[in-house]
Amino acid sequence: TWGNVPQAPPDKILGLKDLFQADDNPNKIDLGVGAYRDNNGNPWIPLSVRHAENILYNTEKEKEYSPILGNNTFITCVQRLLFSQDAYGRRLLNDGRIATAQGLSGTGSLKILAEFLRRFNPEGPVMLPDPTWANHKSIMQYSGLRTETYRYYDCNKKSINIEGMLDDINMCKPGTVILIHLCCHNPTGADLKLEDWHKVIEILHHKELIPFFDSAYLGLCSGDPIKDLKPLFMVNKAVVEGHLPTYLLAQSFAKNMGLYGERVGSFSIICSDKSEKQRVNSQLAQIVRSTYSSPPCHGSKLVSIILSNENLYSEWLTDIKTMAERLNSVRIMLFESLTNKYHSDVDWSHLLTQRGMFCLSGLTRQAGPKT
Ligand code: PMP
Repeated sequence: TWGNVPQAPPDKILGLKDLFQADDNPNKIDLGVGAYRDNNGNPWIPLSVRHAENILYNTEKEKEYSPILGNNTFITCVQRLLFSQDAYGRRLLNDGRIATAQGLSGTGSLKILAEFLRRFNPEGPVMLPDPTWANHKSIMQYSGLRTETYRYYDCNKKSINIEGMLDDINMCKPGTVILIHLCCHNPTGADLKLEDWHKVIEILHHKELIPFFDSAYLGLCSGDPIKDLKPLFMVNKAVVEGHLPTYLLAQSFAKNMGLYGERVGSFSIICSDKSEKQRVNSQLAQIVRSTYSSPPCHGSKLVSIILSNENLYSEWLTDIKTMAERLNSVRIMLFESLTNKYHSDVDWSHLLTQRGMFCLSGLTRQAGPKT
């Protein structure tokens, strides 16, 4: 029956993990999947999560189904984290303009938003940065959306090509969706500066484009999730001032809470008013209902506990700092050993400005180490 099913290509990143496991070199280092490791190279469960699990173990009374769009406590906590840190975000929240729901981590959240776009903005292609996380293209295309790319990173200069990005999005038709990594761009580790964000927002406004933010690493850039939200504050201002009618935001708690396998995240859509929000929510609910019916409850309960308990929240902030500081210290060690021990004639300074879990070496396939 299935004889005509062709072999699908392996996932490049997850395929690397298999290759890694099969390699018996004792000095191997896993540079594949973006997951935090401690100083001994082991996975790490943040202390705030351990403590939240304790609380949950002692207080949990049911494992009933969650509502289709997630538990209200979770939604309120997440909205408070993402939208109540700046006056404009608070205004959008208070005006009842933000539809937020629990998603299956970042990927599942992107997927539901993509399905929403296919239904209600089918003509607008989705512009992806070049390069980007490979799954962006698959998620959008499997949801029936057309994707194109905008210039983002200049491999020769080893920095962001902001002029290229601005030119490319400036050419887009109204209604085009522009996907932007909120921070810790995967795979370059290079983020827009705040003055670049200003220019991008100007074009989003004048060209009537729809920004779609992917926030998979919130906190891991500066070590503080609220500081990493700064670009969003600027966007919120543009929305409140009437320059942008909407934006979409997919938030993952995989990396910044170490909840990779719990699959907990959120998706949000900014609406023009409460009644639009109600209608948008009803459509999101229909998409979710026919996809996985309702989201898993365990991870979302942990997130809710951490975000609503003052002590655990500040412990979480410390956990994030611990992760961000270690990521940066490893980067500095890599820079120093490459500069001092190996390629002393190569400028590796781009490694130092990269942030988050990724490090783009700039090496090409041909450029092996000098012998
Ligand atoms: N967006 C980006 C840019 C990512 O790098 C990742 C994870 N690698 C995700 C989204 C989704 O991650 P998850 O589904 O595990 O939350």
